[in-house]
Amino acid sequence: MSVFKDLWWYFRQEKKNYIAGVFFLLVVGLLELYPPYVVRLVVDEIKQQTLTSEKLLQWLGVLALTALLLYVLRFVWRVFIFGASYRLAQLLRRRLLNHWSRMSPQFFHRHRTGDLMAHATNDVQAVQATAGEGVLTLVDSIVFGGLVVAMMAISLSWKLTLIALLPMPILALAITYYGKWMHERFRTAQAAFSDINDKVQENISGVRVVKSFGREEREKASFMTLSEDVTRKNLAVAKVQSLFGPTISLIAGIAFFLAIVFGSRYVIRGEMTIGQLTQFTIYLGLLIWPMLAFGFLFNILQRGRASYARIRTLLAVKEDVQENKGAISTPATGDIQLNIHSFTYTEANVPVLRDVNVFVKKGETLGIVGRTGSGKSTLFKLLMREMDMVDGEIQIGGKSLTDYQLSALRFAFGYVPQDPFLFSTTIAKNIAFADPKASQEEIEAAARLACVHEDILAFEKGYETVVGERGVTLSGGQKQRISIARALLMDPEILILDDSLSAVDARTEEAILTELRREREGKTTLIAAHRFSGVEHAEQIIVLEDGQIQEKGTHKQLLANSGWYAWMYRQQQLESLIVKGGGGG
Ligand code: ATP
Ligand code: MG
Repeated sequence: MSVFKDLWWYFRQEKKNYIAGVFFLLVVGLLELYPPYVVRLVVDEIKQQTLTSEKLLQWLGVLALTALLLYVLRFVWRVFIFGASYRLAQLLRRRLLNHWSRMSPQFFHRHRTGDLMAHATNDVQAVQATAGEGVLTLVDSIVFGGLVVAMMAISLSWKLTLIALLPMPILALAITYYGKWMHERFRTAQAAFSDINDKVQENISGVRVVKSFGREEREKASFMTLSEDVTRKNLAVAKVQSLFGPTISLIAGIAFFLAIVFGSRYVIRGEMTIGQLTQFTIYLGLLIWPMLAFGFLFNILQRGRASYARIRTLLAVKEDVQENKGAISTPATGDIQLNIHSFTYTEANVPVLRDVNVFVKKGETLGIVGRTGSGKSTLFKLLMREMDMVDGEIQIGGKSLTDYQLSALRFAFGYVPQDPFLFSTTIAKNIAFADPKASQEEIEAAARLACVHEDILAFEKGYETVVGERGVTLSGGQKQRISIARALLMDPEILILDDSLSAVDARTEEAILTELRREREGKTTLIAAHRFSGVEHAEQIIVLEDGQIQEKGTHKQLLANSGWYAWMYRQQQLESLIVKGGGGG
């Protein structure tokens, strides 16, 4: 029952609906007690041979009217109670989504998508059932059940009631036992469902890798294993579930048997009329549903409690990045000062960045190069406050990142991630993602800057071309340039290109960089690149090695340094010569 206490806030919020619903449910219960009474009168009159067809017709009329009333009221209470429970599901889904959209990308690293989906569907459904069927079964089993028993004991025979209800404690025990059993099995079934959800999600988004490595059969096989596992575990739940019905029938059978055996003796002895015994056995029949409901109630509450606890745990996860009270709402702008003493990912134990101190004047371009895994993307994530660092500070315009509202930060940055992501919609909408109100001209201007305008026009539907799930129909270079256009459309104070030109050829790269230099006069640009031609023009270049700044300076200075940069640069020049030479010969 504790889950009802947990959900009390909601019952109070929907007070009117629940009160109305339960009220009509009780009226239904009381009305249901009436027909057996009518049957008793009719039976007794038959026995005494006093029944006239006129009276019979009258009684039948009353029965029909009761049935009609029951029909209407059963509909009414459902609207109130189930309606409220559906709204609870909606509310929980909205809360989960709101919460998740506040979470940093790190959160989604830690939680598997399939798992989150399972919570948003199954768990929400289980809580909804608690607030709907849970309330129904509670009222029906305890209140309606109690009402029937009271009627039997008070208006018919308390002795016979006691005798007939003798097997009930066994039922209560059995149901409690089944309930526990069921709960355990349900939990494992739910976990298996999460796993399969995850597998499906991973296989669909990784379909190209699966196919290109010819792993379909293996993946199918492992899916089959998971699917069999889910089926087995759900069957295990169903097996316990299907014990409820037969157990209740058995106990009810015994109760009927006792009622007839002892009841007929009372009738013979004249302690009861035949009509009363008939009424008694009909009531006994009415008790079957409350008993069943009692079993369901346990089951529903068990599931609801577990699910609600999981949902609450998820909702209680604190944001990795929190906004300070009184933070500034004006978009961040100005010089960037990075003072990172040390940064370590929560999951790791070695620092990824150490002693990174860089100053970028507003309007200048910073180039970042370094071996793969040297910490370039991490530096960007810290700058955009995707996560907080304990040891060090980053300032924009003389104010710490934490002094800004998160929206003020987000607004300042135009970010082109290392692995571009496109939504399954038109190219135009993908480019105008940050500003859906952007005009066609603005969209095209951004596309021209990113040197992708011609490519887009080459498609049959131009800007209205729908990009498939994650942009399967586009080349890597096209995707990169569309996501550059998306960032440029915002004309951000600070543009971050994280290895965003890796998939375009040298000439296109140069064209884009020229456009950028012209267009972004006076605005800050940060570029990470593996190919040095992407950073050559920058006012300042840093070379990261194992999270530390190894070299720093302009392209010229670094070449004069004859360090890793100069060596690497010569290598790359040589490579491009070979490529060009190969093409010419
Ligand atoms: P590349 O040139 O390949 O893009 P990079 O310089 O951008 O590399 P980062 O992505 O910043 O490198 O990664 C730096 C180090 O941090 C790597 O060793 C990586 O394994 C580690 N790392 C990155 N993200 C996480 C994370 N979320 N949790 C733990 N470690 C991480
Ligand atoms: Mg990177």
